[in-house]
Amino acid sequence: MEGKIVTIGEILVEIMATTFGDGFLEPQPLIGPFPSGAPAIFIDQVGKLGAAAAIVSAVGDDDFGTLNLERLKRDGVDVSAVEVLPGAATGSAFVRYRADGSRAFVFNMRDSAAGKIAATLAAESVLGGAAHLHVMGSGLPMPAVHGMVSTAIPALKERGGSVSFDPNIRPEMLRDPAGRAALDRVLAATDLFLPSGEELMMFAGASEETAAIAALLQTGVREIVLKRGKAGASHFDRNGRTDMPGFAVEEVDPTGAGDSFGATFLVCRRFGLGIGESLRYANAAGARTVTIKGPMEGTSTFAELDAFIAGATVRSP
Ligand code: ATP
Ligand code: MG
Repeated sequence: MEGKIVTIGEILVEIMATTFGDGFLEPQPLIGPFPSGAPAIFIDQVGKLGAAAAIVSAVGDDDFGTLNLERLKRDGVDVSAVEVLPGAATGSAFVRYRADGSRAFVFNMRDSAAGKIAATLAAESVLGGAAHLHVMGSGLPMPAVHGMVSTAIPALKERGGSVSFDPNIRPEMLRDPAGRAALDRVLAATDLFLPSGEELMMFAGASEETAAIAALLQTGVREIVLKRGKAGASHFDRNGRTDMPGFAVEEVDPTGAGDSFGATFLVCRRFGLGIGESLRYANAAGARTVTIKGPMEGTSTFAELDAFIAGATVRSP
């Protein structure tokens, strides 16, 4: 594998309630800050696996920013294109789990440094040297992010690079015609598509999995990996499908599983591993993430994944 894997998007801290409940309407104990942000978790996982990695983002000139930068650097990520914005606060997310396992968030994103990501010279330089771009759908509504993605993709493809895409989207974005068009343009250039659950059907405009997969492969997407939570994942390409059951673990904190999973699958494939082995490692990365509190605390090295797999049991389908 040569060349860098690059992503663009938000760096945040996460602060978690330590009790279950509906939200944040009264004082209650919290734990954090933890490094977070879906693109940041993804790229941290790439770095931990020993692949060249960089992120284009922005943080404030504050402790929350420093915490994230130090973590990413420690794990081998190039942060030269993370702008430190004087006077801006690093983005944050407060999260509380409801009794049914769903999450209530208070985000400070749009008005934070994460909402001010810009096409700086450093960003252009990192994107210009990328061999692979990972696009997060959640960041595309930001004009600067969308602009960088649109400019980077044709150049990247021209030099033989590749693109992965995790839709990670809210349904409203698909209902907005401009949002839909932006997502479709990325999809048209996608080599590896990484939807989870409902996202597959929403994107393909199909009501059933097989039809959705066929429609997407028809549009030129080369590989699709459908994330199925505790049930594991399935891989689809023109040659067929490969299903891989998940590992049996106790879920402590689900945040970050999809990002660790996607990064691990991508890196394994780029290191030349087969589809089945790559799915197994990716399932292990996702499963390990959910057993550890904190969105980025559960990213793994290959040694940690090997140790996990050696001691783990696969869920019976
Ligand atoms: P996220 O919540 O980070 O957005 P996602 O919706 O993109 O996640 P999931 O399908 O929830 O993706 O999780 C990604 C992968 O992590 C799964 O395919 C599986 O391999 C692993 N995983 C997630 N939850 C569990 C679990 N409870 N037990 C075992 N493995 C899990
Ligand atoms: Mg997801």
